Order: sequence, then C-alpha cells, then structure tokens
Amino acid sequence: MRAQILALLLVPLVLVAILVATTQRVPVPEIGRAYVLRAELPKVDAAPPLPRVAGQRGKPLVVIDAGHGGHDPGASGQGLIEKALVLALARSLRDEIEREGDVRVALTRDDDRYLLHAERFEIARRLDADLFLSIHADSAGDSSEVTGASIYTLSNEASSDAAARFAERENASDRINGLELGQQTDAVSSILVELSQRRTQEQSAEFSRLILREGQGLLSFHPQSQRSAALKVLRAPDVPSVLFESGFITNEAEARRLSSPEGRRRFAETMARAIRIYFARQSES
Ligand code: ZN
Repeated sequence: MRAQILALLLVPLVLVAILVATTQRVPVPEIGRAYVLRAELPKVDAAPPLPRVAGQRGKPLVVIDAGHGGHDPGASGQGLIEKALVLALARSLRDEIEREGDVRVALTRDDDRYLLHAERFEIARRLDADLFLSIHADSAGDSSEVTGASIYTLSNEASSDAAARFAERENASDRINGLELGQQTDAVSSILVELSQRRTQEQSAEFSRLILREGQGLLSFHPQSQRSAALKVLRAPDVPSVLFESGFITNEAEARRLSSPEGRRRFAETMARAIRIYFARQSES
C-alpha cells in the first residue's frame, strides 16, 4: 500500500521533470528580458556643483538667481519668455558688480537650466553668501496695462490675497505632474533658527527699502511695490533674501524696456548701487 501511494506521488513529479527536461522554457515576453525601464527622477538630495564666484576674497558675496529655466519658462508676454529675460538681467547685474569690484558675485544659473527653489537658496547657503537676490518678471494675463516692479520679502503668512496667488504661481514650478519636489521638512523650527530668521528678515526688509529708494526715478515701480509672500525661494533662514519682480512682460512698453540693452543697464546699475549701499551699512552696524 505504501509503495503504491509513493508511486502515485512520484508519477507527477517524474512527468514534470521530463517536461522540464524536454520542452523549451516558457517564453518570457521580450520587453521583460531585453529592456529595463528606468524613470530618471530629479535627485533632490544630490547637491548641484557650486557656481563660480567672481571677486576679491574677503568682500561680501551676493548670489543672484535668475528665476525659472529649463522646462519651466515662467511667465510669457509680448513675445518674451521670463526665464530668458531674467537670465539676461541677472548677467548684466553680475557684470556690473564684477566691474565695480566692491562685492563678490555668483549666479545660481548661467544657462537655461532648471533648479528647484531649495537648490537655489542652498547654493547661497553653501557659498556662505551674505545676500540673495532672485530676479523674476511678472505676467498680468490679459490686463496688459498693469506695470511696475515689486520687491518681495518672505512672510510666513501671505500678506494679501494677491501675494498668496503670486506665491502659488511661483511655487508651482517645483511641482511636476502633481508630484511635489524639493519639499522642505517643516521641522526646522528651533529657537535658534527663529532668531536667525528674525535678523535675516530685518536685513531683507532693509535691502528691499534700499532697492526702492535707489530705484526712484530710474526704475518703474508698481504702486504697491513692497510686498511679502510665502515664497519658497526666499526660505533660507540665514541669508537675507529678496525677490525682485522686475516688471510685467504682458505690458508692451515694459517688456520692450526690460529686454533692451538700456533697460538692462539701468536695472544693473541701480541694483548694484543698492547692493553696495546695503553692504556698506552692514559693515557699519
Ligand atoms: Zn517668475
């Protein structure tokens, strides 16, 4: 009886063994064998290489950030694209500062590449920058008569509905296909960070006032030109940071001015002077 049961159990095993030995293996679909599908996701943790710093050792350092870039064009209007316009402005400012020689300067991007908001201010932090200036240009949709520059500093709560909407628009460029990239851990809330942040906020506000003062009669400002918003790119807790919305490229005259060599020169000279005065004051205090 036991031998019979054993034989019964062995028969299927032997059959399977014969099948495996004689038949070809079940074919695997080509795609599974020949290809490995990889989806390259942006590496949020990997630190990008640091940009070149121009200027003399020992001088204060300003990091200039041209907004958007790469797959993120930013605003558009009058045939202009924000990412290209602000890169041109950032370069003229860099050249002006380099020419004057009182301040060291670096750009977060000097070509058409995309950087996360956090990467931008992390460059400033890793370079131990003393000031961070992000340059943007705005769009007012169909309201082509809206003009003028605005200067933004960071607020924990967006100071007005308009500022909140603006923050949403500028922050949205860290989102790809609904995936939130470069998300900050909000656990950076120690008292030390808060103290540092308060001092940083005061310095940012001072720089903002200086831009407005030095730009009077030279740059065109929006009636409500000093604002605060919850902008991610201004989140460095220890580097005074300002975002300069240089104007509305949906307005024909402003778009022409901002993209002209004369407009760039005027912007660069004014901004470089505000930066120089800011650092002169810091060294006194
Ligand atoms: Zn922008």
